[in-house]
Order: sequence, then structure tokens, then C-alpha cells
Amino acid sequence: MDKSKYITIDEKSIYLPIDNEAFEIGTLLTDFLELDLTDFQNSVERIKQYNTNDMNKVIKNNGRFQRGYAPILLQIDNSMSDKEKYVRIALHNALKATEHPYAYEVEYSSLTNIEYTKLFDIFDLVKLQKEYRAAVNDCLLKQDEKDNFNPLERYLNYSHELNGKAEIVYTVSNDLTLCEEYIASDISSLLYLEFMKMLQYNVFVRKCENCGRLFAVRGNYNKKYCDRRIYGTSKTCQEIGATNSFKNKMLKDPIIGEYQRAYKRLYARKRTGKITKEELDLQIKKATLLRDKAVAGSLELQDYIDQITKI
Ligand SMILES: [Zn+2]
Repeated sequence: MDKSKYITIDEKSIYLPIDNEAFEIGTLLTDFLELDLTDFQNSVERIKQYNTNDMNKVIKNNGRFQRGYAPILLQIDNSMSDKEKYVRIALHNALKATEHPYAYEVEYSSLTNIEYTKLFDIFDLVKLQKEYRAAVNDCLLKQDEKDNFNPLERYLNYSHELNGKAEIVYTVSNDLTLCEEYIASDISSLLYLEFMKMLQYNVFVRKCENCGRLFAVRGNYNKKYCDRRIYGTSKTCQEIGATNSFKNKMLKDPIIGEYQRAYKRLYARKRTGKITKEELDLQIKKATLLRDKAVAGSLELQDYIDQITKI
């Protein structure tokens, strides 16, 4: 794929202009749905207070964005009031602080003639997250592998409206393929574009059985775990999930084995008259309780073994 200054999408991935990074269709949208927007919301609330110190600081630093960020047209000109400049820059800074790749890709040429207080609606990520969560739940969520549905059919019956505008640009690459490139001017348009591509290419969404977050699946619809890195480790849910189910299998066997040994021991004692029927029942009840606790994981394997071998 040639480097483009626009967003390029093929049947597999979305290529973002910065670093020409590729993301499989569905990963950016599901990551957006799982973003923790608490800090973003706090920033927005603070912007709405128009604190003089904040305003001066933000306007003074205008344009000094961190390295690696795309030059984004904030459409600021000197005829604007300080309040307006402040809202444009500060909102955009808050957006970038989410670190979602889409935050660096928006091109705000469509914001030229917008009254600046309306920008709070355009940047309402919480509302967008809610809207797309609902749409994904209704049209793309796959509960189990037997779930056989056509996402387009579900979308047809989806009564809410998703909105977005993306301009399409055609270019011919060096290897003579026709490329579709897109210019989307705000986050809602990027989400809209990706959502539609998910419908088009049967990219479904599942809930990770390890971390509970939504992730995109395609082809391998039985996939149970996401590929996100678990915070503080070098492992992904997929890697941890696979070892957990292996560990569980290994653990369950010694648990049952020890239980069976205790069971036989108790019956032998009853047979030889060392304990009564009542004592037998009581001890079996005890062993069963220990076994169930160990299987459920509320009793450590070693503690379980220590206790059941004394029965
Ligand atoms: Zn996960």
C-alpha cells in the first residue's frame, strides 16, 4: 500500500496516514467503545468554566503539539475571540489525551463556520460512545458461534440513526490498483465509516471472556479472548486465557483424584466398623464441600490437599 495522506481502507484493514499504520477493520471502533472517558469528561467540564489562567496558557501554547501528532487544522484565525480559540484548542487537546488513534486523524476543515459552543456537541465522545455501543450491541454482537445472522439485515431493522460524512477520493497506486481513500472530518464520521465497513465485511463483535471488553472478530468467530495487552504484563488476554483454561484442566484432575481417595478411605473405615453410618455421611459431606470449594477456586490446591488428606 502506498503512503497516502488520507485514510485508506481495503477489505482487511484501515490505514491511517500517520506512520501509515494498519488496523484491522473493527479494532479502532471497539477500542473507542472501551475508552475510559473520565479524564476527557473532566477536561470538558473544566473548559466550560473558562478559567482565565487556563485560557492564557492554552492559547499561548497553540500549535506546540507534541511531536508525532499530525498537523491538524483547528481553523483558528485572529478574528476569533479568546474564548473561541481556547475552546477549539483545549477540546482538541482533550481529544488527543485519549490517545485513541482517531484523535490524531481528524481534519477539521468542516469546523470553519461553526459557532464555537456547538463544538461541545461535536466533541461529545460520551454520547458517541453510547450511540455506537447500542448500534454494535444490536447489529454486530455475536453471543456464540451458532449465532448466524446477517449484520446488514439487523442494521436494516435498527431504528436509531447513525450519522457521518466521509468524502471518497480515488487514486491509482504504483502497482495499478484503484485505491479508495477517505477524508473524514470528525470522530463521528470515522466511526460511521468503520461501522459501515464492519457491516459490509461481516466483522462481528464479541465480549472477551477474560477482560469483558468488546473486540472485533472476523472468520475465527469462536475466538473467546481479545488481543489487548493486560495492563502491567507483556501478555494479551488471548495468551493468558489459553493458559488459564490449560491450568484449570490440570488443576481439576488432582482435586477429583484426592476426593475419590478420601471417599474410598471413608467407606473402608465404615466397612471395618471403625466409623458409624452417621459419621460416614458427615465426613463425605465435609469432603464434598472441600472439593467444590477447590473446583470453584475459593480454596487453594495445597490447602485443599492438606485438609482432605486428614479426612
Ligand atoms: Zn480481553
